[in-house]
Amino acid sequence: MQERWWLRTVFRHWDDREPLAMAPAERGPVEARRIQDLANRMRTGVLFYPLVWALVGAGILVTDPSREKWLWTLMLLVLQMLLTAGRLWLIGLTKHQVIGARPNPARWLELGVFISGFSWSLILLSSLLDTPLAQHYPLIMTATMGLCSGVLVNLAISERSVVWFLLALFSLPCGVLVVGPVTQPPGLALVFLVYAMAMYLLTGLPRNEYEQSVLANLRLQQQARELTELSHNDALTGLRNRRYFETTLAAEYQRGSRHQYPLSLLIVDIDFFKRVNDAHGHLVGDLCLRHVALEIRGQFLRSQDTVARLGGEEFVIVLPGLDRVEGARLANNLLNHIRSRPFVHDGICEALTVSIGGACTTALPRGNPAELLNQADQALYQAKRGGRNQVVWSAY
Ligand code: GH3
Ligand code: MG
Ligand code: MG
Repeated sequence: MQERWWLRTVFRHWDDREPLAMAPAERGPVEARRIQDLANRMRTGVLFYPLVWALVGAGILVTDPSREKWLWTLMLLVLQMLLTAGRLWLIGLTKHQVIGARPNPARWLELGVFISGFSWSLILLSSLLDTPLAQHYPLIMTATMGLCSGVLVNLAISERSVVWFLLALFSLPCGVLVVGPVTQPPGLALVFLVYAMAMYLLTGLPRNEYEQSVLANLRLQQQARELTELSHNDALTGLRNRRYFETTLAAEYQRGSRHQYPLSLLIVDIDFFKRVNDAHGHLVGDLCLRHVALEIRGQFLRSQDTVARLGGEEFVIVLPGLDRVEGARLANNLLNHIRSRPFVHDGICEALTVSIGGACTTALPRGNPAELLNQADQALYQAKRGGRNQVVWSAY
């Protein structure tokens, strides 16, 4: 959003914070929010216009309840109510439309705004022409100015709506004042023009503030999403971290017991990893960890599988819906896969093996997620004691 020069000049001293600049990718979400808010704000107008006219009409009829005034007042009230129905229909249309739809839902709302402005311009016109309402010109004029500023408080968030409303409200009366036989001096057109310009300028600041607050809100939401994502991931390997794993395991365990499907868990530990560190240093050790993490990740591609780094050179894999047989098959595949992928870096070639402990549960009422993890850990311990480079499955 580009701050206008007149906004900077006139209102700078009101707000000297550095404005947020909108990135092209943020334009869509900000527009979507604007349309939603505009549709909500337009709902007030549904009652507002007929109500203001009903009050003005009552004022007219109290002073002079003649037959023709009743006729004019009621006729204009019916017109307002008909247009209110039209406005409701247009607001309803935007409710079911999405951004990018053709025609753009914003255009429907602007049409609604135009109809609203035009409906009141007919009332204003009736007080300028030689009609029974001409003598109530001061009352109608006061109501028009009050209504106009009230409506613009709502419409300020959309510049196009403000312009359409002002055009719809004042174009016809201004035109008639200039060319037609009217009860008021043609110079009144100039007053309308200046008033409309002032109203337009005054909506600039609230619109700017609205855009800034929507933008700030949008960024906060985005940052919150990014922070959540970061807090779930392991910085070194890019895999999920232990915290995420624990939450997922608890959730999958519950889901499994609710729907009575099995849940398998694998703990993978790199064999003799300390030697890699000792031989090539920690930095190369880190690269080696990343290499193994990537290879493990590539073996479990179902969206429901979770691969996480448990800590150090240990990884854990949650496999919902897989029983002991399928889990053991995947564990053996992984064992062979890692064995076939030595870590190669800068002239170094390290053959790697892993030990895997597995456990499976059908989430019997006696069990709990911590127990499943413990069983897999004990199986891993057995695999290490049995000579490493093997899969051991818990009897659990
Ligand atoms: P074992 O076959 O019994 O698992 O032997 P091991 O050497 O893999 O196991 P041990 O527990 O003795 O050593 C694990 C090593 O992993 C020690 C530690 O320096 C290393 N390690 C743990 N976390 C990291 C890390 O983030 N980066 C690097 N480079 N090394 C790590
Ligand atoms: Mg190890
Ligand atoms: Mg270990």
